[in-house]
Amino acid sequence: MSVVKPVVVLGIFNADAVYRAERQPKIGETVMGEKFKLEAGGKGSNQAVSAARASGETGPEVHFISRLGADDFAKMARKIWSETGIIADVTEDPETHTGSAFIFIEAATGNNAIIVCPGAAGKMTAADLEARADLIGSASVFVTQLETPVESVRAGLAIARKAGVKTILNPAPARALDDELLALCDYLTPNESEAELLTGIAVTDRAGAEAAADALMARGVGAVVVTLGENGVLYRDQSRTIHVPVARAGAVAETTGAGDSFNGAFAVALAEGQPVEEALRFANAAAGISVTRPGASDSMASRAEIDALLA
Ligand code: ATP
Repeated sequence: MSVVKPVVVLGIFNADAVYRAERQPKIGETVMGEKFKLEAGGKGSNQAVSAARASGETGPEVHFISRLGADDFAKMARKIWSETGIIADVTEDPETHTGSAFIFIEAATGNNAIIVCPGAAGKMTAADLEARADLIGSASVFVTQLETPVESVRAGLAIARKAGVKTILNPAPARALDDELLALCDYLTPNESEAELLTGIAVTDRAGAEAAADALMARGVGAVVVTLGENGVLYRDQSRTIHVPVARAGAVAETTGAGDSFNGAFAVALAEGQPVEEALRFANAAAGISVTRPGASDSMASRAEIDALLA
């Protein structure tokens, strides 16, 4: 067993049904598609998979808090978690279904249109988190996103904060957040568009990212990590700014899940006590590897791969 205290992730699992077709059907119409695949998704589950793979043999245990329906998609989730070594702290709800997403991809452009039905995980409550206060309190790092109801996010962050556990909020999908919630975040990890939605400041370059980070810190966030896609990552706290360019791990195949890869690996590095600059490089390397492979949870980097890229 690892001597490092665990990483606890709160979030949702989605079974992503991905359809590729020439065009979207109109209402009342049926079109023949070119390709179909069923994939594991959901930002929380993806981040837990990334953390577990980045943790390897020596890093922290990874726990995942969520709700599933009592159905075949729940079995799919549990299979992936057990194969990856994630400890599931999950309630099964027979009244509803496991999270699921319909993803249409337009063949010519790669553009997508998505319907997400979070099902059971959409019913997470503050009480679900309070019931797991001991687990959260035993962690080194607590990480979550905005796919479960905001009151569950707030409760998880507050329990972690009270217990002295480091908190990471990946504010995705973006939505307006109050200052009380922002003040519970040691690290806020928006991408450019999320940083812009949270602050109203255009984040199109480094100066914009720095200004958005300052605005978020003025509202109570401890440190801001703006992920900049192919431009790497910008970290800013009250005393310093660090920019890390992307780690080149090969040709880019698909960037879906890059942010999830970054967040999971960042949580592991912080849990291990890596200084923030090293933690950023570690997470950036993990994400740089994940983009060289298709898929989201399937593409997450192993510890050996991350160590090799950083060597
Ligand atoms: P997604 O929604 O696709 O999961 P995101 O918008 O949340 O991603 P990005 O800012 O696009 O997140 O990317 C997250 C991190 O992934 C970046 O900070 C960087 O470390 C890495 N990354 C993204 N794109 C590339 C790339 N083309 N090459 C190498 N690394 C990349």
